[in-house]
Amino acid sequence: MSRVALVTGGSRGIGAAISMALKDAGYKVAATYAGNDEAAAHFTKETGIKTYKWSVADYEACADGIAQVEADLGPVDILVNNAGITRDAPFHKMSREQWQEVMDTNLSGVFNMTHPLWPGMRERKFGRVINISSINGQKGQFGQVNYSAAKAGDIGFTKALAQEGARAGITVNAICPGYIATEMVMAVPEKVRDSIISTIPVGRLGEPEDIARCVVFLASDDAGFITGSTITANGGQYLT
Ligand code: NDP
Repeated sequence: MSRVALVTGGSRGIGAAISMALKDAGYKVAATYAGNDEAAAHFTKETGIKTYKWSVADYEACADGIAQVEADLGPVDILVNNAGITRDAPFHKMSREQWQEVMDTNLSGVFNMTHPLWPGMRERKFGRVINISSINGQKGQFGQVNYSAAKAGDIGFTKALAQEGARAGITVNAICPGYIATEMVMAVPEKVRDSIISTIPVGRLGEPEDIARCVVFLASDDAGFITGSTITANGGQYLT
């Protein structure tokens, strides 16, 4: 019987590539999204992967949404916490709302999704939790105090929870992408993009599939000895 994978923010960008790669690897996949119905409908039509709408920032909505996914597909074995947002501003101009929204989605969202799934993974003695952090959680980024703090928090969450899951057959890992060629990055003027690329030793932006392949590996039985790790996938832009 094939395992079930749940990918938050799995209908667009990096998450869509992750959802498709997991499907190609033989998993039953559910993808969540927050509000972009059009993108989600298009994604389902193209891939056959079912999408579910709720905000990871809302604990009750996560618990209810997860119950629906499990009723449809069976118990979730692999959770990919990919949903994320930016609300950039230099710190002296950052509002409390900009701070809170990013913390609620990018850090509390990881708690809200993992916590309801944890007892089932412990009972079944198998689980994979894969958190998509960021290069900017590792090095900090001007204008992203909120985002960098939340993404660094995801790494701390990963390391602590890995220790609690280890004996129960659950691995917990983080992936830190560098600049990936998603809509957001491709919308940046070409000149600015070229200057970003000049800081990446491999000489190109990452592709969503570069991250998806890391997820497929971490989800597999072959990765059972890897837990509490942070995989850096940034073309050499920042060396940890
Ligand atoms: P996108 O903006 O392309 O997609 C984000 C996805 O997350 C969408 O599916 C969106 O849903 C969903 N989402 C946003 N907020 C919520 C929420 N509150 N609840 C549920 N789903 C939500 O993002 P990327 O593909 O660029 O990024 C994916 C992850 O990778 C993020 O965590 C990001 O921080 C991280 N990352 C990205 C990098 C990059 O270069 N792109 C670099 C490093 C890290 P909807 O479609 O409804 O809006």
